[in-house]
Amino acid sequence: MSVKRWILVGVLALGALGYTAVPRGALSDGYYVLVATAMLGAAVLALHAHRPRRIGIWIVLLAGMALRLAGDIAWSILGSVLHVEPFPSVADFLYLASYPPMIVGLSMMVRARRPGHDRAATLDAAIIAVGAAILAGVFIIAPTIADTTQGLFARSISTAYPVADLTLLAVLARLWTTSGLVLRSYCYLGLGMLLLFAGDIGYDAFYMTVGSEPTGPWFDLAYLLGYLCVAAAVLDASMRSMTEPGSGAEESFTRGRLAVLTIASMLAPTALVVEGLRGQPLHWQIIGPGAILLSALVLGRLSGLLQQTQQQAAQLKELARIDGLTGIPNRRSWDYELRRAMDEARTDGTTLCVAMLDLDNFKAFNDTYGHPAGDALLQETTTAWRSVLPDDAFLARYGGEEFAVLLRGRTLPRSYAELNVLRGATPLQQAFSGGLALWDGDEDLAALVSRADAQLYEAKRGGRARILPVAVPGNLTERSL
Ligand code: GH3
Ligand code: MG
Ligand code: MG
Repeated sequence: MSVKRWILVGVLALGALGYTAVPRGALSDGYYVLVATAMLGAAVLALHAHRPRRIGIWIVLLAGMALRLAGDIAWSILGSVLHVEPFPSVADFLYLASYPPMIVGLSMMVRARRPGHDRAATLDAAIIAVGAAILAGVFIIAPTIADTTQGLFARSISTAYPVADLTLLAVLARLWTTSGLVLRSYCYLGLGMLLLFAGDIGYDAFYMTVGSEPTGPWFDLAYLLGYLCVAAAVLDASMRSMTEPGSGAEESFTRGRLAVLTIASMLAPTALVVEGLRGQPLHWQIIGPGAILLSALVLGRLSGLLQQTQQQAAQLKELARIDGLTGIPNRRSWDYELRRAMDEARTDGTTLCVAMLDLDNFKAFNDTYGHPAGDALLQETTTAWRSVLPDDAFLARYGGEEFAVLLRGRTLPRSYAELNVLRGATPLQQAFSGGLALWDGDEDLAALVSRADAQLYEAKRGGRARILPVAVPGNLTERSL
């Protein structure tokens, strides 16, 4: 936000705080309307200046705020100018009419920030909303409906407020749980809506416990600060990116979210305890189904998390056994596969051959053409080798420019012939040397691999570009084939 805008927000904030010093009555009513109008006016001008994409979302939101302000004006005129009881009146219709645009505007923002379905965010928002609904149902809505001192019409209006507020809270919770850019504008808007919600619910709670309307300026101050935060959300330049989709990355299950969900899921038993302690008749019709619904939602969320964890574990397992560059099995998979193959061969009495292959003068290739070209050659080599090797051959990247091949159920000459095909298939006429060993049926994995390795180094010493096979320790060389 620019310095000019910060000064404007500061002046408006002072205006809101100044409300507490104005004597209650027509003067404070006029003051309230003036400050709130200035805040909304600043928001409208800022919206015009910013002209964000999807400006419609902001227009709908501000239209809701304007209806709320119209309700404030009507309320003040009725009470302070015409001296008539403003409840229930046209002011209530204006107040109630302000909710649908605010709820629709926030829902549109959720859609813009995260298009498509987001099961986790929906479940989290539902847990918060149901928890709050249980409290509001037990302590505000049920007593309001049962209050026969008010007429049916007045009771319906009184009931409509907490119901509308709960719907607003549900959408607000959905906005909070939706992944997206956490911008200053986003925080101001959320705080503003939360202040309006808290003011309303606090007002109702006060009326329920004290039995009369609050006379102090504090609830009005909460509303004014709510207007201020909404204005700040529009004034802040980050509002231009507010409706942009987030990165799409999965929201991590933060401690803050866990704390809010824990509290929300405990609201049903809390309501029960409070009613019990107060010796009141229990609203089991609200608490019972509410608690069942909460448990179902929490379990639904838990199963989603569990599924996600299992999927991630499977992906990690897959990643851990694949070489990142070439996409073929890595050394870890090689060790596992070779051990398994040796066990099988021991049981079935079949043969097993292991080859270690190493690209010749690869350092020079890198030095001449660069590392990226070397990487590409490694990738192309594995692709080419895989296409000519028999399907049951197991090719792995042992490390660097060294590869290992496992061939089962073959004689040494057949293995040698199958490996020799690789020499013509290697891209860019790149040569390689190899050592091939036939398992003696008894030696362990390390001994078998080191025999193949020894042959490989023998092949390098002998002039490279060749494969040297060995049957049993030190017995068979290329010449004796
Ligand atoms: P020799 O014929 O004796 O095997 O010679 P060489 O140059 O192939 O062997 P040396 O061990 O001297 O060098 C191996 C080279 O392989 C050095 C290293 O930079 C390169 N290398 C290892 N892993 C990779 C990789 O993932 N990408 C690229 N581009 N180069 C790699
Ligand atoms: Mg090499
Ligand atoms: Mg090497």
